[in-house]
Amino acid sequence: MEKTDKLTVMESWKSNLRAWKIWWQMCPGVFISKFVYSVFNAASPYVTIYFSARLLEELAGRRDSEQLMRWIILILAVEAMRKLMGGILSHLTAYEQLSAKKMDDRIYMKKMLQLDYADIDRQYVYDLYSQIIQTENWAGWGMRRSLDIFEKMVCGVIRMLCGIGLSVSLFIQRVPESSTLAGLNHPIFIVVIIVLMLIIALAAPACRNRGNDYWNSYAEEARFGNRYFSFFGFMSGDRKRALDIRMYRQQEKVCSVYMERVNSFGVKSIMAKWARGIMGFWYVASVGVSVILTGIVYLFVCLKAWGGAFGVGSVTQYVGAITNLFQGIAQFIETLGEMRANAGFLKPCYEFFDIPNNMYQGSLTTEKRSDRQYEVEFKDVSFKYPGTDAWALRHVNMKFKVGNRLAVVGMNGSGKTTFIKLLCRLYDPTEGEILLNGIDIRKYKYDDYIDIFSVVFQDFQLMALPLGENVAGGAEYDEEQVKRCLEDAGFDKRLEAMTAGLDTYLYKDIDKEGVEVSGGEAQKIAIARALYKDAPFIILDEPTAALDPIAEAEIYNKFNNIAGDKTAIYISHRLSSCKFCDEIAVFHEGSVIQQGTHEELVAEENGKYYELWNAQAQYYVEKDA
Ligand code: ADP
Repeated sequence: MEKTDKLTVMESWKSNLRAWKIWWQMCPGVFISKFVYSVFNAASPYVTIYFSARLLEELAGRRDSEQLMRWIILILAVEAMRKLMGGILSHLTAYEQLSAKKMDDRIYMKKMLQLDYADIDRQYVYDLYSQIIQTENWAGWGMRRSLDIFEKMVCGVIRMLCGIGLSVSLFIQRVPESSTLAGLNHPIFIVVIIVLMLIIALAAPACRNRGNDYWNSYAEEARFGNRYFSFFGFMSGDRKRALDIRMYRQQEKVCSVYMERVNSFGVKSIMAKWARGIMGFWYVASVGVSVILTGIVYLFVCLKAWGGAFGVGSVTQYVGAITNLFQGIAQFIETLGEMRANAGFLKPCYEFFDIPNNMYQGSLTTEKRSDRQYEVEFKDVSFKYPGTDAWALRHVNMKFKVGNRLAVVGMNGSGKTTFIKLLCRLYDPTEGEILLNGIDIRKYKYDDYIDIFSVVFQDFQLMALPLGENVAGGAEYDEEQVKRCLEDAGFDKRLEAMTAGLDTYLYKDIDKEGVEVSGGEAQKIAIARALYKDAPFIILDEPTAALDPIAEAEIYNKFNNIAGDKTAIYISHRLSSCKFCDEIAVFHEGSVIQQGTHEELVAEENGKYYELWNAQAQYYVEKDA
């Protein structure tokens, strides 16, 4: 992170203003409640100070019992109102603050979802996002802190204004000329006292801000520590890792060793050292300076009262008002410092918010054709993943017709998944173009375009939600249709065994009665989800992680029937699964090196397909025999 001391006051103002604008647009309620609460908090002590002074004056002066009673009742009533109002406002503000906190997570989630897929894949974006989250979790710096800054800023300003209002008369009221202390009336005293007070009022927060600066210097280390502990500290709670952790005794051999290696927090950390030393010194200096200030105020006020400028009641008023006034100044200056520090933490937030959407967004709608007459063509498409130099696809030319079964086969790393990602426009080609019914796919509206594809990705993810909602991809769904899709995907028997049927939660993250499904079962649910979407193109990407070769071939064969008039694309490195397809494209090192039917390809004895087919024959020879 860039050092915050490079930011000017203007820049830090602008940075915080932008944060306030974002919050205001999302939840104006939090601003209004914080404003009212801060004004109330800052101004209300002055009411008590004022009335207490009047009571003391009465006690020291006329001592009229009726008047005294009136002041006492008034003070009690004001105090009661203060507490009551304070309680109500504090609850309202806490409520609004809580809503804002929820919004906070949503700002990042919303941006994440709006990013081009290519950006989500970038390490830079991941690092930026994790830096923002770590910083917020570690000490609440960033967007959330800007709300506290607003509250403190308002509070500081109101305290200053009220303090000035109540203490002006201290300088105006004169000591009688007959008094030996009449010299205090000289204007030079007013100037000296105000200048002295200002210097001290500035010195206290300056010392505090010097201390606060160490938080910034610590940020990098704290973020690293947080990242480190989030990984190693919670590793044992991660169910997916439980097997490996036990088998290799990673808890003792890895986690504890690494946990001891890093000393970002705790008594041996650099922060603890600073707190005991230089940083602690600045904090103590700040408190010490404030104490000197209070002493000077007391001295001046008491001398003027002694000289006869005002009564004893006013002594408490002036001391109270001036102490509050300078606390207001200190708070204001400290908040400026905090704002500056926060501006440094807001920088990565804005960097993240400002990541542009570089993918061209077209305006054409994909015709919702009842005949599903779509034709896709790859025209000399080449592609490099962002930030890499190697071609993942090179000069791919391919055309596939509607209703066909296309198989994309090849060894691992040959470019099959990349081909699908380009087809679904998760990335745009580096060279060449992809056409849908003769038009470059970039010219279509993105949401419209992806609506024509149903994909079961290799690393598909299901949600910890009810089965029915998983299949339908939403809370509202057609039960019969969901059941039909699950049946087509071969999940019907398992569904019958589920007591809560479609309402059965998957996994236990949300519902403790949730069911754990095997990899193969999850695959079937994912296929049912693809079928429910009922898109003209259906794509199945290598379900090898979950299925053995025979089960895979069965799924592919079954799928051939249920895909109906849809265009189906199968990706696999197991050739047996795809031999029924109308067309097979063989990928090798990013290029399509052969294309044809199974019979045609297997007849080419010098071809890659022939080589792969024979190498894999052992797996399915029995089945095929
Ligand atoms: P397949 O699906 O045939 O196993 P892929 O399409 O996944 O192959 O990968 C093709 C090539 O692209 C490989 O060399 C792989 O390492 C590279 N690749 C895949 N994904 C990424 C990525 N996100 N960033 C950089 N390179 C990638």
